[in-house]
Order: sequence, then C-alpha cells, then structure tokens
Amino acid sequence: DPADMALRALARVNLAAIERNCALIRREIGADVALCAAVKANGYGHGAVQSARAAVAGGATWLAVATGGEAAELRAARLDARLIVLGALAPEELDEALDADADVVAWNERFVEQLATAAGARAAATAAPPIRVHLKLDVGMGRLGTRDADELLRVADRVAAAPGLELAGAMTHFPCADEDVALTRGQLAAFTAFGERLRAAHPGVLLHAANSAAALALPESRLDLVRCGIAVYGLSPWEDDATAHGLEPALELRSWVAALKPLAAGETVGYGARFRAQAPTWIATLPIGYGDGVRRGWERDGVALLGGRRRPLVGRVSMDNVTVDVGPEPGVALGDPAILIGAAGEERLTAEEVARRLGTINYEVVTALSARVVRAYH
Ligand code: PLP
Repeated sequence: DPADMALRALARVNLAAIERNCALIRREIGADVALCAAVKANGYGHGAVQSARAAVAGGATWLAVATGGEAAELRAARLDARLIVLGALAPEELDEALDADADVVAWNERFVEQLATAAGARAAATAAPPIRVHLKLDVGMGRLGTRDADELLRVADRVAAAPGLELAGAMTHFPCADEDVALTRGQLAAFTAFGERLRAAHPGVLLHAANSAAALALPESRLDLVRCGIAVYGLSPWEDDATAHGLEPALELRSWVAALKPLAAGETVGYGARFRAQAPTWIATLPIGYGDGVRRGWERDGVALLGGRRRPLVGRVSMDNVTVDVGPEPGVALGDPAILIGAAGEERLTAEEVARRLGTINYEVVTALSARVVRAYH
C-alpha cells in the first residue's frame, strides 16, 4: 500500500472524508438544492477524478472545473455527473469542453457567436446535443462576467434563439462571502433581481451563486445549486479550524527522514546558511521541497510532526528537501514518517495553520502540491 510506504513526498487522501463532507453539505442545503463540487486544479490538489468520484458518492450531481482539459479528464473517467467549465474558454479548448459534454459560461455576444458557430459545425458532423450555456453576471468580483444586466438579457435572448444552444442557467460569484455577509446579501439581491427578469423571459433557467462560505453561512444564497470547493475537501472557507464546522480535512502531506546527522555548535544548514546551530543538535532531512509545492517561506516558524511531536523546520526550503531540527536527543530514526500537513497522535498540523504562517490561504497550500507528489487514496 503506497499510503504506508516511505515515498519522498506523499499526499494521502481520505476519500471517505470527501464523501462525508459532501453529505454534510447536502444535509445543510436540503433536498431542493443541487450540489456542484468544484474539482478544478486537480481537485484542489487532491486528485480530480478520485475526488470527483467521492463527491458524487456524497451526493454531488454536478462537477465544476476551470478548463477544457479538466472537463475532458473527468469525462474520460466516465463520471456520472453534469460538468460545468467555470473559466473563460480559449478558442483552442472549446472543442475539448464541448466533446466532454460540459456546460459552459458566457457573458458576451462574441463568445456566444463562437458557440453558435461550434454548434453549427457539430450538428453537421454528428447528432450533437445542444450546447448548454450559463450566463454570468458580475455583482462585484470584477473578474469574469458582465456588470450590465440589460446586456446580459440581450445575450440570453441570443442564446435562446440560436440553433444548437440551450440557455441552461445564470450565475454569479461572490468576492466576500467569507468576510462580509451584509455586502454579500446586497450582491445576492442584485443577482436575484436579474434572475427574476431573466426567468420572466426564459422560465426554468437554473440560478446559482454560492461558494462554500455562502452555501454554509447564507442560506438564502443557495438558490437552485451551490458550487462548493474548499469545504468538499474538509478545509475551512474562513481560515479557522474546519472541524469547527463539522468538516473533515481529507489530505495528509508526508515525507520521511532520509538523512539524520549531528550538527556541532556553529555549523549551518541550507542555502544561504540561514540556520546556525547555537548548541549541538541533530538535523533530519525530509526529501520534499518547493518542487513538490512546499514553497520557500514554509520554514519560517514552520514545523513538521516527527515521532508525534512538533519540530521546527530550519534552513531554507530547497527544491527537493527540507531540514528539521530534531534536537540533541532526536528520538527519531532514519525512515521514520514526517508529517507536514495532518495529524499524529494528539498533534494536528492543519493546512490553515500552514497558510497563516505563509501569509496565504489553505486553497493555495493544497492546490500548490505538484504532480510529483504521489497521491495515495484510502
Ligand atoms: N464558483 C466559482 C466561480 C469559483 O471560481 C469557485 C472557486 O474558486 C467556487 C465556486 C468554489 O469556491 P469555494 O472553494 O470557496 O467553495
């Protein structure tokens, strides 16, 4: 079982935890609201296909990705769920998304004309299903979507009239659902006002807005469907302890003690010789580094769990190694496991804690785990 092997960098992913997190969200949102699990960016680093399967087992009926390639990967795995590509699609990836029978997001005439052309070409070649389109209103994110509701209603009419296109939904995305509920309520009102106008002309269109924070904390934002990512993986949208919300972190990041050496007072460790031993100690080297996603800076006040105890990372993170000060009486041996995210005995080292020290968010910590980190599922 690779989960028990001393692999240089190993992400052990608990699929039952992902399934339970989805089941918890499902219970919260109620039977009338659909759950769409965001599995973009390789399932937030957890592995897209495996995470998607677990999410579907937990009650997700939709899966969201960011790119055409991500949609293709899921469709090739024959997942039984509706797919939606949330991101902007470059012309080169449009066919990939459509071949995967994914819903797509549009907000301007230009892209709708591209879709109409693609639909025409596909209808000539095969008995292609209609291209299902979701319109995106920007209520404050300032990123994708349009702020102009009138324009978006015109785009809606164009989609509805185009042969081969189907107006499937309308969506928005909240910038501050985790920080400012009052602001988010106002943005929700702007979206639902648009939704009412849209549905007056096009009944039955699906409305969706909520990410994890909104889905869990702002019930009126759930509408027809919620798009949850971070909570699916048992991580907190609020950067606090996810277990306080009943969520179970699914990912453990570990390495192992590949070298163990005594250091005399005055000797140094790592590039730039940033760590100098004040007294004799032992250094354990773990073969995991920024090439794996353990980025430089992780050593600042950073820790690893060895032998069930917190031990300080010292010296700069290298591309392929980090170094740990295990003290004058180390009590660890070559080959021992070392945990960079996860639990050992009573000690817990969360992605949120790591993120705080790095001055970032848990999303980035797990999404940064690179392809060479072996994923083992249990
Ligand atoms: N919806 C959109 C448009 C997103 O971009 C994302 C993720 O970034 C999500 C939903 C899921 O957000 P979260 O991971 O905060 O639940």
